[in-house]
Amino acid sequence: MSSVDPVLALVRPDILALAPYSSARKEAKGGRVWLDANENPSTPAAGQPLFNRYPEPQPADLLAHLGELYGVPTNQLLVTRGSDEGIDLLLRTFCRAGQDAILITPPTYGMYIVAAGIQGAKVVSVPLVREKDFALDADAVLAAVTPAVKLVFLCSPNNPTGNLLERAAVLKIVRALAGRAVVVVDEAYVDFSDVPSLATEIPANPNLVVLRTLSKAFGLAGARVGTTIADPAVIAVLQKVIAPYPVPVPVVLAARVALSPEGLAAAQESVATLLGERTRLLAALAQLPAVKRIWPTDTNYILVEVADGTKAMALARGTGVIWRDRHKDVPNSIRITVGTAAENNETLEVMSRV
Ligand code: PMP
Repeated sequence: MSSVDPVLALVRPDILALAPYSSARKEAKGGRVWLDANENPSTPAAGQPLFNRYPEPQPADLLAHLGELYGVPTNQLLVTRGSDEGIDLLLRTFCRAGQDAILITPPTYGMYIVAAGIQGAKVVSVPLVREKDFALDADAVLAAVTPAVKLVFLCSPNNPTGNLLERAAVLKIVRALAGRAVVVVDEAYVDFSDVPSLATEIPANPNLVVLRTLSKAFGLAGARVGTTIADPAVIAVLQKVIAPYPVPVPVVLAARVALSPEGLAAAQESVATLLGERTRLLAALAQLPAVKRIWPTDTNYILVEVADGTKAMALARGTGVIWRDRHKDVPNSIRITVGTAAENNETLEVMSRV
């Protein structure tokens, strides 16, 4: 960690000064007889893998595979319990309760506000421009950044609207805020788009943080594998805040399968299938009289506007089909995830009766 890194000036001073917990697995390298962590020498329940040992705090093998997947060196990576934990860690690391703030661009992912609320950080909102298909207004964002704003959350592609934010606009914000605020680009859905990740811009912009996840394209939502990609100095500080053993052994095993050559090929095939289904859904939905508007999407979901969202949601629920009501974000809008062909047919069948 370099003491001259200007991004560190944005970290909570008490976190910078904090002596982190030093876990047994961090202190002990190598060794033959492990009697340092009060573990059981075996896993008593028969017929299951050995889970008796604490995991590596950041499993080296998993980091290497994620580094390859995301095209960045491993000292820029932190594996977390889903990217939701990355959001929470960033709030707790950069925002002093009752003093600091985050900036969000609604309508956007709801966890940013919740994580801010938990940490006691204020929230500055600069809406995406609905008239321009929810485009990012970089100048409006920059005009709204006060010294209290430590984190700017940009979600691209954005949840729930589905659109990518313009790369040039994002980078304009990142560069203008160098030394003033950290810009977090949440790329949970970028695997469904055809644009490259912004992670490669981190070396030139140490105030840029990118969030990725295996929950979507890799189908591992149940395993909770998120990755925070950031300047090595930022990663080192986040490591002080994260729990000692955040990546459980069964999760590492699941991720290893997903990131094997076969797993990578399967994920690619799955994304291709979902994109094909998305194209079919978009075309078919556009034909239905109930559908007033379909927002452009670069994700595995579609935001659909209908005349009466509450009625449509109720009709779907009555048949056992669960969509996501986004009326609070965009009036009468419903976010529909692209599922299997059969599931998508159910969506079309219900929507044809709305
Ligand atoms: N970011 C966005 C934009 C999301 O939609 C989600 C999931 N709903 C997450 C982050 C969190 O994903 P996970 O914790 O499963 O990685």
